[in-house]
Amino acid sequence: MSDVRDVIIIGSGPAGLTAAIYAARANLAPLMIEGVTWGGQLQLTTEVENFPGFVDGIMGPELMQTLRDQAARFGTEFVTDNVDRVDFSARPFRVWVGDREFRSHSVIISTGATAKMLDLPSEQRLLGHGVSTCATCDGFFFRGQEIAVVGGGDSAVEEANFLTRFASTVHLIHRRDSLRASKIMADRAAANPKITFHWNTVVDEVLGDGRVEGLALTDTTTGVSSTLPVGALFVAIGHDPNSSLFTGQLALDENGYLLTSGGSTSTSIEGVFGSGDVVDHVYRQAITAAGSGCQAAIDCERWLESQHAGAH
Ligand code: NAP
Repeated sequence: MSDVRDVIIIGSGPAGLTAAIYAARANLAPLMIEGVTWGGQLQLTTEVENFPGFVDGIMGPELMQTLRDQAARFGTEFVTDNVDRVDFSARPFRVWVGDREFRSHSVIISTGATAKMLDLPSEQRLLGHGVSTCATCDGFFFRGQEIAVVGGGDSAVEEANFLTRFASTVHLIHRRDSLRASKIMADRAAANPKITFHWNTVVDEVLGDGRVEGLALTDTTTGVSSTLPVGALFVAIGHDPNSSLFTGQLALDENGYLLTSGGSTSTSIEGVFGSGDVVDHVYRQAITAAGSGCQAAIDCERWLESQHAGAH
């Protein structure tokens, strides 16, 4: 079975690329199916200030390019496309990209998570026309304008702070009366004169014809509705794990996160490993994703070794 790889890595965020670096350096010649838009959520991020090793911070896309170059340097092979289907019911495992079938003794899954949306028809209609999930990508377009961010976690606060570079005012709209964000980030936002907080407020509708012109809001304590004229809405309300490919094949928790066992990266199928945000709903940091990618590669290498040992 010469066409059977030792390991296929699905997903190319910090978890997948770190797994690739380790697997490549262990001579496993990994095949990474990196997705059409490779690099994961850090591709949509501005400065990363908390990844160890960068005193002055680094831009998310630059960090991802560096990790990818490092994985390539040790011989990782890349397929820049999405996986359409997998079959983990028998070994070798099978992974399809369109009609192309890849087979492998082991698989590392690092498919990450995707931004949640408010699920309003008007939000979908105006996505890319003022509704965005990526402040880095789109903040520049709203120079000098009033814009809004919805959410109350670290993402929302980070985006609101970043967007004050461009916007005249950033309206931070949160459904409760206190932030979920960490104290240091919340304090930074509170001290930023360009951020206006709207507590206990929900977005009922994104207004505008062809582009965002405002938001229909309701104050949940008074029930009073209002209109807020803004040129953009940045949605920053959390994430869903990208695990639908594995439904019915691997054990997932009630929120769709991949289940791993015994403090390892082993999933419910021997030889399939999980790492990064598709597993982790607690820490969700680039550095913890990278760490778990390293763990997955080591678990995978040891498992492959045990299989070879067993075959002798
Ligand atoms: P999160 O912590 O889950 O926060 C999501 C926020 O959106 C919450 O405030 C939530 O409100 C609100 N929300 C959820 N669904 C909503 C809906 N349908 N309508 C309105 N509001 C809604 O997500 P996150 O901010 O993306 O952060 C995820 C993780 O990444 C966290 O662990 C965070 O610490 C980390 N993170 C760290 C940094 C950093 O350190 N630089 C930056 C970004 C993210 P409730 O509060 O009412 O639940």
